[in-house]
Amino acid sequence: MDTLRRTPSPASPSDEPISDEPSSHEPSPGNVEPDGAPVELAVIGAGPCGIAVGAAARRMGLSTALFDQGPLCDSILRYPTYMTFFSTPEKLEIEGLPFVTSEKTATRKEALTYYRKVADYFQLPVYQYHRVVEVKRDSDVFLITTRDGAGREARHRARRVAVATGGFHEPNLLGVPGEDLPKVSHHYREAHPYWRQDVLVVGGSNSAVEASLELFRAGARVHMVHFGNEFDRGVKPWILPDIQNRIRNGEIGMAWAHRVHEIRPDAVVLRSEASGETTELRNDWVLALTGWKANPTILGSLGVPVDDVTGIPAHNPHTMETPVDGVFIAGVLAAGHDANRIFIENGREHGRLIVEAVLAGSPESRGAS
Ligand SMILES: Cc1cc2nc3c(=O)[nH]c(=O)nc-3n(C[C@H](O)[C@H](O)[C@H](O)COP(=O)(O)OP(=O)(O)OC[C@H]3O[C@@H](n4cnc5c(N)ncnc54)[C@H](O)[C@@H]3O)c2cc1C
Repeated sequence: MDTLRRTPSPASPSDEPISDEPSSHEPSPGNVEPDGAPVELAVIGAGPCGIAVGAAARRMGLSTALFDQGPLCDSILRYPTYMTFFSTPEKLEIEGLPFVTSEKTATRKEALTYYRKVADYFQLPVYQYHRVVEVKRDSDVFLITTRDGAGREARHRARRVAVATGGFHEPNLLGVPGEDLPKVSHHYREAHPYWRQDVLVVGGSNSAVEASLELFRAGARVHMVHFGNEFDRGVKPWILPDIQNRIRNGEIGMAWAHRVHEIRPDAVVLRSEASGETTELRNDWVLALTGWKANPTILGSLGVPVDDVTGIPAHNPHTMETPVDGVFIAGVLAAGHDANRIFIENGREHGRLIVEAVLAGSPESRGAS
């Protein structure tokens, strides 16, 4: 890789107030640098951890551009409307920019506002609604092909690439008959549409527990099904007594150690893991909150190996560089199938690691794991 191009970094938080104006840093298609030179570090995915890479790049003087298939923080936008983060706000902060919330923890709306302000403050060029469909090396640069909503393609050039595409590419399907019925969703937004409806919530994670409690309180008749005998270890300890009491009182039905066998228009069939016996329940809606998978396409096309069992892309955890020179990973993508291992709290630190590695020359010889 050749010498780095430095760009002026934004002033420190005390020098420059955060602007209320819309960002004046909307990039135009084509080469990102005004003179047509490639950017030093392109970031694919503008979630919190991609933003952290871009902010660290700007802070430390590297030219950067971010690409997202949707709007900024598209994943958070899709979270339940009234969710609150479990992390306290300072643990969600990027590059020390204060995150002030009205309560002890942030709401989804507050987080979206905060990350927009971070992008504005660090003057991040963000190509929103530009899905990256291909990244390939062309001598000493990477050619990034994006496609917008109208199907138009554009090419961008970068000296290095950080892939921060998260873990929410496609849902873990149940793989049962009826999963394609319109009553089945792998997303939960809010409880109101399910008032006085029979809802089956599939899963034993935090998302399944929180949705079940919210649905129950909004007047839905809720039944849960989980293949395990207890909830996942990631469930917030302070909501466990609530769900356990609702199940104990029979207010929320629970089929432990069962799986969904079939989904019918007005019923679901559950199967016991132990005996194989089936039970039919009346049902209007199925919320299959069974987790999501990362998109392997971009890393695969670049030749980054991904562990078959863990789903973790090969990388050096000290630099986040993959065995492919100039290709880094950031955020929850680095956690493979275990999204509970990396989240914003620790994934935001990848930004600094990557930019420091780029500035230090990041020799591949450090050894990828
Ligand atoms: C209900 C809920 C509550 C949570 N609460 C907390 C919490 O309190 N604290 C915490 O630390 N974490 C929390 N998390 C986890 C946290 O939200 C994720 O770990 C975090 O979003 C990961 O950030 P990321 O930038 O790595 O990935 P993402 O936020 O998933 O961002 C990835 C981005 O990449 C984009 N993308 C994907 N493919 C492409 C492509 N081909 N081209 C262009 N763009 C692409 C996506 O559109 C997306 O915007 C919570 C998660 C959930 C579901």
